[in-house]
Amino acid sequence: MKVMKFGGTSVGKPERIRQVATLITKDNEPKIVVLSALSGTTNALVSIGELVAEGRKENAKLEIEKLEKHYQNFIEELIQKSEFLEKAKAIVAEHFEFLKIVLRISFSKALNNEILAQGELLSTKLFCVFLQENNIEYQLLPALEFMNIDENDEPEIINIEKKLKQLLQQNSEQKIFITQGYICKNAKQEVDNLKRGGSDYSASLIAAAINASVCEIWTDIDGMHNNDPRVVEKTFPIEQLSFDEAAELAYFGAKILHPASIWPAQNYNVPVKLLNTMHPEEKGTTISDKTNIVGAKAIAAKDNITAIRIKSSRMLLAYGFLRKIFEVFEKYKTSIDMITTSEVAVSITIDNTESLNSILKELEPFGTIEVDENQTIVSVVGNEISQTDETIKKLFNSIHEIPVRMVSYGGSPHNISLLVAAENKIALLKQLNKGLFGLA
Ligand code: ADP
Ligand code: ASP
Ligand code: MG
Repeated sequence: MKVMKFGGTSVGKPERIRQVATLITKDNEPKIVVLSALSGTTNALVSIGELVAEGRKENAKLEIEKLEKHYQNFIEELIQKSEFLEKAKAIVAEHFEFLKIVLRISFSKALNNEILAQGELLSTKLFCVFLQENNIEYQLLPALEFMNIDENDEPEIINIEKKLKQLLQQNSEQKIFITQGYICKNAKQEVDNLKRGGSDYSASLIAAAINASVCEIWTDIDGMHNNDPRVVEKTFPIEQLSFDEAAELAYFGAKILHPASIWPAQNYNVPVKLLNTMHPEEKGTTISDKTNIVGAKAIAAKDNITAIRIKSSRMLLAYGFLRKIFEVFEKYKTSIDMITTSEVAVSITIDNTESLNSILKELEPFGTIEVDENQTIVSVVGNEISQTDETIKKLFNSIHEIPVRMVSYGGSPHNISLLVAAENKIALLKQLNKGLFGLA
């Protein structure tokens, strides 16, 4: 059995949905098809949630109506026969009725999560109507019945595995299963989600749970590129990555994969393929436990980073000092991305600033604190990068006139990270593309 996940752009237009149906019926292998919301929908739902939270109900209503119109036009183009069009219209009406009811009840985080879930609920239900119209047999597996996270927002993989296997056994004659990416239930049994871009994570968790032959991530580009194609002109797809390399790229900002989406597949040794829905004949990227060439493979950037420097000539060398600092971050459930130390100072970066003020207050007794906001981590990733002094030489030789705030090297053999001010990110990505890959 395999997993095929289709992202927002892959289901964002009626002709793409037709293409998805072709791709999932191409072979006879049983499969779980994981769908995202239609492109733009989750962004619109986020904005509706924010407007409701701010009490700007009129604006929220306008946004809801605009989105509803989009869906009404979408199904008119997608569905041909009136019997099925009526079904699709009823689904759209039901979900937008829910969004309008939201305007009348008091806002809460749980309600916001219900709002955000509408995108994947809609895309899967509408896709199912399309399959019915085209006489394609399928079974819908509601993600809310098996995808669970615990009180720390961590997926309960053993439970997911148990529930999913039960659901599959109940429908053992089926070959095509459809489910929602992104959405889940939390420890309080409320609707929740796996954070933005979370459908990749859903796919990988499902692939791990069923021990899939492969986890295919179908998107709008022909695999993982060597640099961010949104800001660097000359980039190329990478044919092979190890799980470790892919995990580092995802964690350090390559948007094509959710930051946490590699570990489930890696733990259960399920290969992941990144493929292009518009060009299924392209090779894409295969991510597996195989490691091939040594050296730099790709560059990724992670934005919205805050750097904190703690200077203390008195205490830094004392044992237990770093532990006390780390405990402050642990207390506020704030994970640290980069860390560098010298005899007199330690620099730490975080991307979650929700508890920044409390953290800074608790760090004050340890020394002088400096904070730099709006930083970007640029990571160069590759197998055993540290083994090739050529890479290090080329890397530092490519940087011109860009102040680097931190360098982290040696923590993992696959990664060298640089911290720069956000305004220097694009220039650095371009300089590294030239210096490491010879692409100007
Ligand atoms: P989906 O909606 O299918 O989940 P995403 O928008 O989340 O798609 O991810 C695909 C996009 O990721 C690409 O269109 C591309 O612009 C962006 N991207 C950023 N970095 C990379 C990279 N290194 N390789 C490929 N795509 C990347
Ligand atoms: N629809 C969700 C989002 O836009 C999840 C996903 O597409 O992966 O973040
Ligand atoms: Mg995505």
